[in-house]
Amino acid sequence: MSAARYTPPPFMPAAYFPGPKSENEAWARAEFQTVLDHWFDWRRSLFRDDPSAIPDDLRLSADFLKEREIQARALRRLTDLLCAETPKYTPRYIGHMVSELSLPALFGHFAALLHNPNNTSKEVSRVGSVIEAEGIAMLAQMLGYDPAAAQGHFTGGGTMANFEAVWRARYRMDHWLSLALTLAERDGDALDIFSAAHMGWDRFNALRAERGVSDEEMQARSTVLQNPFEIGARLSKAAARDWRGPVMIVPGNKHFSWRKAANVFGLGESAFLNAPLDAEGRLDGDGFSALVEQAREQARPVLLAVTVAGTTEAGEIDPVDAVADRLDALRGKGVDIWHHVDAAFGGFFCAMLGGAAQQALDPARQRALAAVARSDSVTIDPHKLGYIPYACGAFITRDKRRYQASSFQAPYIERKAEGDKWSCTLEGSRSAAGAAATWLTGQTLGFGPERFGALLAATIDTRKAFEAALAEAAPLARLLRPADTNILCFSLARDGEALSAANARTERAFERFQADPDFAVSQTVLSAESYGALIAAHAARHDGAVDSDRLVLLRLVLMNPFWADAGVRAALLPRFVEILNRYSA
Ligand SMILES: *Cc1c(COP(=O)(O)O)cnc(C)c1O
Repeated sequence: MSAARYTPPPFMPAAYFPGPKSENEAWARAEFQTVLDHWFDWRRSLFRDDPSAIPDDLRLSADFLKEREIQARALRRLTDLLCAETPKYTPRYIGHMVSELSLPALFGHFAALLHNPNNTSKEVSRVGSVIEAEGIAMLAQMLGYDPAAAQGHFTGGGTMANFEAVWRARYRMDHWLSLALTLAERDGDALDIFSAAHMGWDRFNALRAERGVSDEEMQARSTVLQNPFEIGARLSKAAARDWRGPVMIVPGNKHFSWRKAANVFGLGESAFLNAPLDAEGRLDGDGFSALVEQAREQARPVLLAVTVAGTTEAGEIDPVDAVADRLDALRGKGVDIWHHVDAAFGGFFCAMLGGAAQQALDPARQRALAAVARSDSVTIDPHKLGYIPYACGAFITRDKRRYQASSFQAPYIERKAEGDKWSCTLEGSRSAAGAAATWLTGQTLGFGPERFGALLAATIDTRKAFEAALAEAAPLARLLRPADTNILCFSLARDGEALSAANARTERAFERFQADPDFAVSQTVLSAESYGALIAAHAARHDGAVDSDRLVLLRLVLMNPFWADAGVRAALLPRFVEILNRYSA
């Protein structure tokens, strides 16, 4: 007799969300209650013999009851106020990158909140910091990094995670440049700023050992430690050409956080070399390589090169693989450039890889996502496609060395006990709630293709269902092509309508949607400066003249899991199309 093989039950996403009609209320409420019971019992049971600070007679006094009443009334006011909050759980909310939260995320967040760990240090987060390390390992594995080697932490969001990448890339470059400046000033070596700034750790270590350069000598020439303008002047002198500071190569579709980073790190917003986009709105590989050469000619080191997996505008996935190939080729020639993937939105699509779920993605997009594993660092936002409450981003590096961030000590000296994060996070005190929400999601939904990946594949299927419905019944909806993921963008235009008139029509429709509680959609505007080729192709499909330098689009983020339900689709999709047609006129 053969042993019965265990077959896991079919995956039921409906068991992982509260439900649009609070369908899972009864058992979810019991779980919340259990978390609370556990918390109160825990408090009571520790230090059992300590005196009570709130004796019964005090607690039952009239004055005490009044204070309770004050809190109860204020709390009711707050909960009443919150009922006017944007309802983001419903499938009718298809506006921004947020939707229904998952139950594991809510349970995990709530449970950790009650214990209030501060992941800045193990002293105030005995458990939270362990959960954080395990949660990061789960995300790292999903992204294709070796989870045993990868390092990272949870942040307030994608913006902070992107800053973490700039911070580390800057320290790395500072080490390499200060070594080269030491050799130039001390020993009279020729200084080629571009190659020095990308020398790589192997060359750095070899040079340092061979030439006997001390920490102090490099520290005296660090732009991070010293006056950066004075060091800049010395770099100019040693290289016999003007030091103009580093650049960042970021796609033209870059998120606003990159501009903030240039600003905050003092690079100047002109420090961007904007990688051109192809006619489909993704980073163009040849254009990218040309920018590296341009930086080399200008003797401006590339602080980091950024690719985007899931753009904020339309969810497109850059050819991360093509950029990784080009960076590998450069590395082979001694030019080591930091590659950061901004996967704030799209990182979770990596969960689809390796199973049937990946078929929802174009093969080129699958290859791009698989190449995230080849990057130096990644930003991923659990508070977007992770269905986890705000504020929860994450910054992850491929290994420990890439994670280290310090002016000088860290690459050589372990300054703090393992797990203490305060010295290597931009933020100080950090909640463990996002880490716990991610951890519990990983423990239950899991970040593999059969479950989490299947959930996201269904959201891409929703986008396709919307496309089909619009193609069939909304004649003015002009779909932005191609759509890589679960974001659907379209403009509203009559045949032959010029871009400016179509933009006005689309803007009008957006305003009408905003004034109407029926469906929440968002709007995005693509500029010709970044998206020229895409805009021309888009307008050409409805024979519209390109008489504007921008394309206004309605944008639907179709991540709500309930759209996978046939009944929801049958009831709400025709209703959406009907309203859209009314607002298109
Ligand atoms: C959302 C997003 C960010 C910023 O993330 P926040 O969590 O809002 O700070 C950065 N990059 C991309 C591509 C994003 O989609």
